Amino acid sequence: MKLLLCPNPTCDGLVKLEDVECMSCSSQIAFHPPSLTFAEVTGKPLAIDGLSWRACSNREWRCNWLVADESDAARCFSCRLTRKAPDNDDTIALERLADSAVAKRQLLVQLNRLGMPVDPWFEQEGGLGFDLISSISENRQVMIGHANGIVTIDLAESLDDYRERLRVSLGEPYRTMLGHFRHEVGHYYEWILVEQTHWIDEARELFGDERTSYADALQRHYKFGAPANWEESHISEYATMHPWEDFAECFAHYLHITDTVGTSAAAGLELWTRRHDASQPDLAVLPRPHYEVDDLDALLGDWYWLARFFNRVNHAMGKGDLYPFTIRPPVAEKLRFIHRVVNGLPATRVEPTDGFRRRAG
Ligand SMILES: [Zn+2]
Ligand SMILES: [Zn+2]
Repeated sequence: MKLLLCPNPTCDGLVKLEDVECMSCSSQIAFHPPSLTFAEVTGKPLAIDGLSWRACSNREWRCNWLVADESDAARCFSCRLTRKAPDNDDTIALERLADSAVAKRQLLVQLNRLGMPVDPWFEQEGGLGFDLISSISENRQVMIGHANGIVTIDLAESLDDYRERLRVSLGEPYRTMLGHFRHEVGHYYEWILVEQTHWIDEARELFGDERTSYADALQRHYKFGAPANWEESHISEYATMHPWEDFAECFAHYLHITDTVGTSAAAGLELWTRRHDASQPDLAVLPRPHYEVDDLDALLGDWYWLARFFNRVNHAMGKGDLYPFTIRPPVAEKLRFIHRVVNGLPATRVEPTDGFRRRAG
């Protein structure tokens, strides 16, 4: 993510994507998605790039996005992508929704920066939407997943104890709300950008044939677990379950890696590998905000050193690895495929009232 600055001209504070208030000067701030910048909220409409903007009506639930006056919607683009939400009187679940919406907005900003189309469910059949509901409120297990453009997320997973218990019981090294969003949107993009296009044959060679029975794969996975030596060819045990899960896991990792590398680049980080491994030649790692289609090896090379560095930083704070995964050559080839799909996206147009891309035509 690029560095975000407080919009108050007398303040030099850095702000975070989810902030509604600057921590340095207490200005009320809101995010303008098309320009990826913050503006000060004064209660009056804001003129930005020729359009008039106001705060999302979910600001009381910590949504800090702006919405264009011209759009006739009270809620921002991110909030409108939520198709199902907890009932208005279920304030406990609505708190969980507010937490989870932070991860959703982070996802959307990154998708837009990568040039991914976001055709919303309310404009198009099969468009992207989110059902954000809680296992606790529904009194049943909400299955996290994707179907026909709609991503379902269990809001209960924004509770640390709930999510951590599942993470341990499933033997996963990493489980976060942002990770769920990145994984599930991977299913959506495989569906629209791979399965419905010329990319499908190559995808089947790399990930396997997605037409094999998902129900059988699920049953097998929970009965027998991942095959021995799974880490030689897959990024996680879950990725071995079915070709769809392999793609979605790799897509999530592509977003993890590009966001973390991009954030490092925006901060001007320069890393000397000599300080990590004396047996290696001295090498300056200079992360870039963007890697061209032929630069996947450079991206993964930079990531190799950055991940080792950030793992050490986490250990300095008494935490586990930031990135507890190893990318082996077959996984690198899967990431290369995703990098090519992302860099070869079909033509899109930008909708001025929300700043998001739509597939053209
Ligand atoms: Zn400030
Ligand atoms: Zn909103």
